[in-house]
Amino acid sequence: MIPVFDYLRGHARIREEVETAIGRVLASGKLILGPEGEALEAEFARYVGVDFAVGVGSGTDALVVALRALGIGPGDEAITVGHTAAATVQAIGEVGAAPRLVDVDDRSLLIDPQHAAAAIGPRTRAIVPVHLYGHPAAMPAILALASRHGLAVVEDCAQAHGARIARRHVGSFGTIGCFSFYPTKNLGAYGDGGMCVTDDPMLAERMRRLRFHGFDAARVAQLAGINSRLDEVQAAVLRVKLRHLDGWLAARRAHARHYLEELEGAPLRLPPTAAGTEPAWHLFVVRLEQRARIIESLTRAGIGCAVHYPQPVHRMPAYDRLGCGPGSLPVTERAAREVLSLPMFPELEPGEVEAVCRALRGALDPI
Ligand SMILES: *Cc1c(COP(=O)(O)O)cnc(C)c1O
Repeated sequence: MIPVFDYLRGHARIREEVETAIGRVLASGKLILGPEGEALEAEFARYVGVDFAVGVGSGTDALVVALRALGIGPGDEAITVGHTAAATVQAIGEVGAAPRLVDVDDRSLLIDPQHAAAAIGPRTRAIVPVHLYGHPAAMPAILALASRHGLAVVEDCAQAHGARIARRHVGSFGTIGCFSFYPTKNLGAYGDGGMCVTDDPMLAERMRRLRFHGFDAARVAQLAGINSRLDEVQAAVLRVKLRHLDGWLAARRAHARHYLEELEGAPLRLPPTAAGTEPAWHLFVVRLEQRARIIESLTRAGIGCAVHYPQPVHRMPAYDRLGCGPGSLPVTERAAREVLSLPMFPELEPGEVEAVCRALRGALDPI
């Protein structure tokens, strides 16, 4: 059996470090908003190359806190893509703003800056590009567009810890960058967690208040906030894992190169890498027809795979009032039928990558 993702393989290699860190927290008498969280914020900010980081309870909450800190709410619109996790769209709705969904680029499956430009209207306040699968979105074009129209840029980096454009980390380009530490992500906690990053000290302070009931240092609510804190146990685990992140990213990149070599010339579409970018390879996603048959065949061969995402957000019942009917985002809808995520995690063995590719080639060409 080759799983699509396996946290236990990673855990086996860092178990002692993690257990020591958790033990330290349990013995410290401080479980929420303490030294581990503060240290992680400083270390993560340094890693991404920004001045401030604010830990929150999840990646979804990171987006909510970021949008709230920017003052985005009822009457405002934020532009994002339909080809993403539902959380991106949910967060925009959660602050009371209207999500304005645009189609993705057919090659990259990332936000198409031209579609984003066409969607800008008098109520638009922000663009929320998603670095899906760990591939950096076209930030230079998005930033130019945002500055031309006076819009904030909130980067959804939930799948892209460690992805870079011209050696600069995603999350450091926009007004605020939002990360998730959901266990399957490139930097995963042993539970839920998230982080907002920014270079703006005022926004950092607002986000620090918003995550904790809007409290100032005297615990007086200056804003109507929420309760979304990154706890000390998760922060301690993440500090251990952050030290390994670059090694794990190197392993992911090696697996991606291996997949690209092994699958060259196969009748499918391979993920492209834009010039000057270093993807974080959160997922290795191919595109093919007759996906159901291929999945069945891989499953029979003991190979795990997944679909991110089978149903575009604008086709989900909760979001069918966003004004995007069937066929309105054609590239997104086609991608939803074609994408297939192959096993991808640092501890994958080269022999396993080869076995996946053999089985996939066999399934694609059954003669
Ligand atoms: C995982 C994910 C989120 C949400 O993160 P959570 O920590 O699960 O709340 C948001 N956007 C994208 C693109 C994601 O993959």
